[in-house]
Amino acid sequence: MPPDPTPVMVATVAAHPRLPRAIAVIIAAPAARLGPQLLDPTWEPEILGVIVDEREILRSSEQFAPFAHRLRVRAESTEACELVRRVHVLRRLGAVVEVAPAAVGDGTMLLRLASHGVPVAIGPESEPAPEVLRAVTRHFLRSPSQRSPIEPFFLIAAFLGGGRRRLPPLVDFFRTRPGRHVYVTAERRVSLSRPLALAGAFFGDLDDGFAAWRASALWRQAACFHDRVFAAPHECAFCAHWRCCQGCYRLPDPTSETCGGWRAAFDEIRECHGALTATLAARGTAGNAGP
Ligand code: SF4
Repeated sequence: MPPDPTPVMVATVAAHPRLPRAIAVIIAAPAARLGPQLLDPTWEPEILGVIVDEREILRSSEQFAPFAHRLRVRAESTEACELVRRVHVLRRLGAVVEVAPAAVGDGTMLLRLASHGVPVAIGPESEPAPEVLRAVTRHFLRSPSQRSPIEPFFLIAAFLGGGRRRLPPLVDFFRTRPGRHVYVTAERRVSLSRPLALAGAFFGDLDDGFAAWRASALWRQAACFHDRVFAAPHECAFCAHWRCCQGCYRLPDPTSETCGGWRAAFDEIRECHGALTATLAARGTAGNAGP
């Protein structure tokens, strides 16, 4: 049986009239209010976060000051290196910079931001080139210059270290959890997430309303994802990263082959963590942080 939706949903709404300069506004809303009301400029829902284009931050960062620590800056061009010159602004705003996989380039911009204390994330909609993914993973594992989390690697490592009680799995960090998240495009089309909207998969139109979205083929497919993973079982069921990832890169189809590079990177983090744990255990220091 597909799980019932949670009473409060999280909607990422592109081109919201309340914040026309934002790429998207992340709203917590009762399921019953999901529909055309999401774009009602007089409605004042709880705003969980705001996603802005890198150029808006470069142009005028102060307009987003009210959303400090709720801000995600989306970098879609490899020219986003300008952001590195504004690290003081990004740090003051408590912003996370989410870099589109296609804009990661050779990884330099992302690594420089992390080394300047700005949290960064690589978006989940595809994979960077394998050699870049390997280089960024190794930097994450070994570079002493890194001062801020690089996602999704930090969350994968944190879950290995037992941090899952406090930290979100990737499906929540990237807002792709079926029955919890919806994504509304600027064209008023509704999907589970931005990656699925980019892939052309939709629940329906904004005007159709929540009941119609729930009846769509995509909703039913996504809602059954966990059951399908473990009933078949599919590859996610045997994946060492399931607890943290929960199929984030294969939703809504567990048979898709979309996470090979990510999974290899996560395996490398797991091997490093395993080797470190074994070394500490051999020295009798595991779990002993005190003097
Ligand atoms: S197989 Fe891929 S999508 Fe599935 S849990 Fe593992 S890393 Fe995530």
